[in-house]
Amino acid sequence: MKQEKQKFEIGYGTSGNPPNFFKSKFGKKRINAVEWINSIGLNSYEYLMTYGARTRPEAAREIGEKARIFGVSLSVHAPYYIVFTSDKKGVFENSVKEMVKTLRLAEIMGAKKIIFHPGFNNSPNPVDKIVKGIKEVKKKYHGPVKILPETMGKFSQVGSVDEILEICERTGCEPCLDFGHIHARGGSLKSPEDFRKLIVKIKNKIGVKKLREVHCHFYPVEFDDKGEKRHRAYFEEDYFPKFEHFLPVIKEFNLTPTLISESRDSQDGGALYMKRMVNKLNEN
Ligand SMILES: [Zn+2]
Repeated sequence: MKQEKQKFEIGYGTSGNPPNFFKSKFGKKRINAVEWINSIGLNSYEYLMTYGARTRPEAAREIGEKARIFGVSLSVHAPYYIVFTSDKKGVFENSVKEMVKTLRLAEIMGAKKIIFHPGFNNSPNPVDKIVKGIKEVKKKYHGPVKILPETMGKFSQVGSVDEILEICERTGCEPCLDFGHIHARGGSLKSPEDFRKLIVKIKNKIGVKKLREVHCHFYPVEFDDKGEKRHRAYFEEDYFPKFEHFLPVIKEFNLTPTLISESRDSQDGGALYMKRMVNKLNEN
């Protein structure tokens, strides 16, 4: 099986297209993004459908072909308007429909997973509604693309580590660990020990196999008492979490995660920084 080849490599990529993409010779056409990713030494790319699953199937196919040619592994970020927790009429049904649409487009693209924001805490039993939503989607979509609920950074959102692990346990999904979001809920990731504690907890829940290839978003974050305020850039020293603190845990548990950088306006720099840090560690 061809796609097995990339499995034991760490993935480094950007979330969408940062300013440097548009400044590059590839930047005139969005369809060139994966070629640009390859040209700067990265191997992963998160395609954003955050404002709608509106990519034409032909465009999805073309992106997928380019991704195969240039050895770039794809993930898709699902639309923000997918909200299983809403009590507004029709929103749940529409969210199921849009999630299925996103999965089909991701499949055409050859993406292996879609990442989604689970919802909000403004109605009773939100976790039950999210679990129900995922189960409805799985009744309608039987393809190979996985659904990954993401840890979220605001207290008004469903998405603490415990909530995401519960959703995963009840649906068979794998988590997307957004470390910026995890830290934004009170500042829990300030040392290598903090990362180790978190990763051991997740390992005990999902098992070492799923942990090994876990999908991650990484960037430093600014937060207040409500949680996440804004993403910061990887080189801004006053902000956490720091990739240096995750590094020893990657080594200890022999992880080969996909590391998607959401560093503010510098997603490419953030991803390349993580790659350099891992390579340096492997040389020693
Ligand atoms: Zn997200």
